[in-house]
Formats: sequence, structure tokens, C-alpha cells
Amino acid sequence: MEDKKVLIVGGGIAGLCTGVYLRRHGFDTEILEMHTISGGLATAWKKDGFTFENCIHWLVGSKDGKWLNAAWKEVFDIGRLEFFEDPVFQVIERGGERITIYRNPDRLEAELLAKATQDVAAVREFAGLIRKIAKLHMPEGGTFLQNLGAYLKLVPCLPMLFKYGKLSMADYSKRFTNPILREFFSGGISDLSFLAIVFSLAWMAQGNAGYPIGGSLRMIGLIEDNYKKLGGRIRFKARVKRILAENGRAVGVVLENGEELRADVVVSAADGHATIFDMLEGLFADDGIRRIYETYKPFPSYVQVSFGVGADLREEPGHITLLVDKDIEIDPGTTENIVAFRVFHFDPTFAPPGKTAVVCFLATYNHEYWCALREKDATRYEAEKQRVAAAVTAVFEGRFPKARGKIEVVDVATPATVVRYTGNWRGSMEGWLYTPATGIRQLPCVLPGLRSFYMVGQWISPGGGLPAGLMTARRVSKRIAKDAGIRWELS
Ligand SMILES: Cc1cc2nc3c(=O)[nH]c(=O)nc-3n(C[C@H](O)[C@H](O)[C@H](O)COP(=O)(O)OP(=O)(O)OC[C@H]3O[C@@H](n4cnc5c(N)ncnc54)[C@H](O)[C@@H]3O)c2cc1C
Repeated sequence: MEDKKVLIVGGGIAGLCTGVYLRRHGFDTEILEMHTISGGLATAWKKDGFTFENCIHWLVGSKDGKWLNAAWKEVFDIGRLEFFEDPVFQVIERGGERITIYRNPDRLEAELLAKATQDVAAVREFAGLIRKIAKLHMPEGGTFLQNLGAYLKLVPCLPMLFKYGKLSMADYSKRFTNPILREFFSGGISDLSFLAIVFSLAWMAQGNAGYPIGGSLRMIGLIEDNYKKLGGRIRFKARVKRILAENGRAVGVVLENGEELRADVVVSAADGHATIFDMLEGLFADDGIRRIYETYKPFPSYVQVSFGVGADLREEPGHITLLVDKDIEIDPGTTENIVAFRVFHFDPTFAPPGKTAVVCFLATYNHEYWCALREKDATRYEAEKQRVAAAVTAVFEGRFPKARGKIEVVDVATPATVVRYTGNWRGSMEGWLYTPATGIRQLPCVLPGLRSFYMVGQWISPGGGLPAGLMTARRVSKRIAKDAGIRWELS
């Protein structure tokens, strides 16, 4: 089947996984990636001996035999990753008060009952839900018939999923009176579906959401190596400008440098908006697709301030969220009183011995401000980055006295950085937000009136995340194989 050529636009997790699945089924594949490395949002960067992680907090599917683990094994040898399972998901502090969100639901319940004494009913309900979801067996791979047993076991849980699926994080926060817990639920991305946190904590409770030592670079490196070992090709600095369509069929792409490449099938693993409205000039967007892009809300973009600290911070939590009294102004229209730090003392590959890499993530929807500033006024852009870095440094040094005067490296990435290196619409961190209104219903992977063209990745799977890249790649590759009359060799 070497004569069926597939061009894959984008070498993030979805593009790489699609490449592996299609190579495993004999297609001649080439990934076209605009950046100089693969990974897209699943990346990190190195500076003066420190590595600053952009993405992975946890990887669903990290545990042998649990949900998604078998699918990861289809695309790379996940056994080569060493996973770190912190018993603590995160610590939240306000002034002298502290609440620890444990991964184990029993410990979590005991901690919340002790600290949020007015919220007994809400705490018990929350912990109970995590326990119930952790017991669910989620179907994966296989046919409907092969999964019938798993579907039947899900049936009794449907009323519960339906009931809580109607709530956002902000809605659920109202059940608590404890101010720290209220902030935990409503202070982040408050439109997010409440079930997103329940499922995440349930996967953690199962031990199925570990952090891979070496982070995104290590994991993506292993997948890219496997793809190449299977004979797949990847071309870097290859930005696709247009997807070529002739007589209602995708037939290739035009690169930014004018080069034209022909193929039997084109898959876009790049940003959805750019794919549909720029690369395909909106020619294959019907009302339904336009409505999605007009009404769905994407995850926000972000400013990331990273520190290389010349001190060992291993006595501190790996993930700490500070509720500060004085808001940090991130950009016009965005202020934040929640400042979260990931203290990477648990990853020895991220800093020289005795030192620590730390990152702070600050969400913003004002990507235009940063993109326009970078384009029009480089000096002010730099000054704005330094301003935010100084505000974050003050909070960091206030909470971590051991780090005072020991910050050796400061790095600031903005929404303009996200757009420049990944092309994501509005600098979004994760594609479409999973809200009570969207649910987890998958969006179409094909466009009306265009044959031999498919989409994969976070923009067709609300909620995004690395699992979305893997699962959309699997689903779409299976369909491409079927459309080409090739037997799917996997379950
Ligand atoms: C701060 C942060 C924390 C996160 N934490 C987690 C986590 O803990 N766990 C988890 O599972 N997920 C997490 N995510 C989400 C996860 O990183 C993303 O959902 C996922 O990586 C998206 O993969 P993708 O392949 O769909 O898209 P992308 O990663 O955006 O890949 C798209 C690729 O296409 C390329 N491209 C775009 N346009 C073109 C073009 N015209 N021509 C050629 N190439 C092009 C881009 O350069 C990019 O490489 C996090 C994300 C962020 C930002």
C-alpha cells in the first residue's frame, strides 16, 4: 500500500500519533511541521541548564492495564517512561491557611472535613463522586460489540453523569462556604465542566495520571523516534499555507515557500480555525461548523513565567497555588489573584543538582494585546514581559524565602509565543473548553464537500489534552484505513 500517500499538517501529539497509526497500516506518510521540533503545545524549552515545561502535569494512561495505556502502547513504548506519582495533587494557600488536595479520595475527604468544617455534605459528595468515577471501566478501542460489557456497566452511572454534567466549576463552587475551596473550584477556568476535575482526580486516584520524568520532550521524543523507525518522514520549517482541493477532493498542500506537494489524502493536525478558514479558505465550512467557531469557547491562552533557581526546593510542594491579596495585572482586562507554581524538584532532568526549575502559569483571554505588542512595539513588549515577571517574582520570593536572591534565570512566554510556535487560534492552551453545553461530544473529523481530507487533534475533541491527540488520531486513522479498503490490524 506504499502508493497511498498521506500528508499530515502539524507534528504535535495528534499529528505524530496519526503518523504512527498510518505507517503501521502501510501508508506512505509525511508530517509537515512549521516549527523546528515536533510536539506543538506538548513541549518545553531549555535555558542555561534549566528545562521549563510547557505542558504535562499528568498523563492519563500512565498505568499498565488502565484506561488509554493500551492505546499509548500502540504508538510508542510507554514502558520507557518513568512516572512520578505525587500523593499530593496540589496545595492551596491563603495567608497562613493551607488545604492539600490529595490524589487519594479518602485522604482528600479527611483533609477537607478537617479544614472545611461547614461543608461536610459537599465534601462527602465530592469525594464520593471521585471514588465512583474511579471504579468506572471506560471503553476504549474495539467494536461496539466488544465494548458492550463496558457500556452496560456504565448505564447505572448515566443519571449521575447527566446530573453533574450540567454543572460548571463555578456552579459547583457555590456548594462550599470555605473560601479556599470556593476559589479552588471557581477561581481557575470557571466555565469548565465540573466533571473535568472529578474525572482528573479519579484517574489520579487510580494511579493512572502520572507525570513522566523528562516531561513533554522525553515523551514526544519517544513517539517521534518510533514514527521514524516505522519509516515515517517529518519535515520541519514546513508551514502549510493552503490545502489544495480539486473537484471536491483534497489533493495536496502548498507550503509557505510556494512548494506544492501532492498526496492521496491530507490530514490536518494543526489548529482547526486556521485549517478551515485559512488553509481551506472557508470553502468547506457549512453553517454547523461556522456555528461551532462562533459559539464554542476555547481554553484561554497564557503567560508563563519560568525561573531557574539556584536552590534545592524539595521540601516544598510540587504544585502550589497561592491566593494572593493583591491582584497581579497580567494585561489590560486580565488581573489574577491566583498564582500557581509548579516546583519541579521531582524531575532531576530539569535542573543541575541542588537547583530547581519553577514555572508559573497565568491564564489570559487577551491574546490580541500580546500579539499586537510583539508585532508593533518590540521594546514595550519586552517591558511588559519584565513587568509581569517582576510581579510574579515578588510573590514567589515572598512565599519561598530560600529562593530569595537565588533566581538565576527568568524566562517569560506570552500568548504571542504560543501563536508563533504552535499556530493555535487565540493562543489557546488546549482547544475547545469542555463545558456543560459542549459535553465531550466529538466534532466532525471531515468537512462537507471535501473527500480525502480529515482533521485530528484538540480542535475536534472538546477538552483537548494529550489523550485527545491520541484518540482522535486512532479514530481517524481507522477511518482512513477503512476508506482505503485496508484492514485495521489493531483492536
Ligand atoms: C500549560 C499547559 C498545560 C497542559 N497540561 C496538560 C496535561 O497535564 N495533560 C494533558 O494531557 N494535556 C495538557 N495540555 C494540553 C495539551 O498540551 C494539548 O491539548 C495537546 O498537546 C494538543 O495537541 P494537538 O496535536 O492537538 O495540537 P498542537 O500541540 O497545537 O499541535 C499542532 C501542531 O501543528 C503545527 N502547525 C500549526 N499550523 C501549521 C501549519 N500551517 N503548517 C505546519 N504545521 C503547523 C504546530 O506547530 C504544532 O506542532 C496542556 C497544555 C498547556 C498549554
